[in-house]
Amino acid sequence: MQDKRNIVITGGNRGIGLGLFKSFSLHHNVIITVRDEAKGIDALSKVNSKDNKSKYVIMDLEDSNSIENAKEKIEKEFGFVDILINNAGIFIKDYEIPAIETDLESILKTFNINTLGALRVCKAMVPLMNESGRIINISSGMGQLDQMESGSTAYRLSKTSLNALSKILSNELSRCGIKVNTICPGWVKTDMGGPNATLSVEESSSKIVEFSLRKDFPSGKFLRHGHVIPW
Ligand code: NAP
Repeated sequence: MQDKRNIVITGGNRGIGLGLFKSFSLHHNVIITVRDEAKGIDALSKVNSKDNKSKYVIMDLEDSNSIENAKEKIEKEFGFVDILINNAGIFIKDYEIPAIETDLESILKTFNINTLGALRVCKAMVPLMNESGRIINISSGMGQLDQMESGSTAYRLSKTSLNALSKILSNELSRCGIKVNTICPGWVKTDMGGPNATLSVEESSSKIVEFSLRKDFPSGKFLRHGHVIPW
């Protein structure tokens, strides 16, 4: 029997976040963040959490006040957080558009959600973590400098920046014992990944769950399916 953990997952109402919610809720206390009440009620109806506390809080990653309000509710419910998964994100589809033709507003919007959103959530959640706290930032191979290709400039920049943020946080938070890693979930059949993706939500999220609970949890690494990959 695993120790019951208090887990927070951003964007838990669909896609990979919902897959993580369903899986973690079987054995752990989970709070997902959603953008409105209806999405939270719908997500709760899809999980089987038996004796565990599964809840949702309203949070918009672009709105610091909503994150502060969510923090208060999470603190009241859990007291402390063991695992934070920064999963929520957007991808404004601009695959073929060269960087010099990319709308700068779409870059700012994507950065604000994918990168600053994760930082805003960390600012709120780190004070609720103890020395065994774990943070997992869901990034993407599209942010990997080692494999950088063309197009999708807004998304790529936001995820490369998220990778840098993860590394900075892993250095800074090591003094209080909190470990921070970045994960690429693979190409997954969700609204974002599309129907041609190679992995089901269950296949991808089960690997993330396994990694999140690993005894030998590293810090400052970029991983896909539990294996370290280059930045
Ligand atoms: P998805 O199906 O599009 O779901 C995105 C989630 O993020 C939804 O819950 C959405 O909420 C939430 N979200 C979007 N904007 C938000 C905001 N401003 N504030 C709060 N929540 C917000 O995406 P997914 O495929 O599950 O992706 C999950 C993560 O994996 C993302 O970080 C993505 O970049 C990453 N990823 C995905 C793939 C893939 O192939 N799918 C590959 C690599 C990386 P609403 O329902 O309210 O919009």
